[in-house]
Amino acid sequence: MKLEKCPCCLGEAELARMMVGDTEMWQVTCSSCGLSTELDDDQTFSAERWNLRLERSKLKMWVTLLASLLPFLVVTAFLGGSFMGLRL
Ligand SMILES: [Zn+2]
Repeated sequence: MKLEKCPCCLGEAELARMMVGDTEMWQVTCSSCGLSTELDDDQTFSAERWNLRLERSKLKMWVTLLASLLPFLVVTAFLGGSFMGLRL
């Protein structure tokens, strides 16, 4: 299963295996900044959760970007509108 890059630093992520008592546990950890998922006994679930985290942070980035662009768009539309109004 392919691991997406780290949502914090875009570093390479790796799946680490740990033994907790007699149970095999898995954790996805970023090799650059150390960000990690919680321990889970399901390898696929760990990887999925990690990949989902990147999707969420991408989404957050877009929302932030749009929110910061919105005032600019409104001003541009307003100025553009009055400019056209003057021309007509
Ligand atoms: Zn990282």
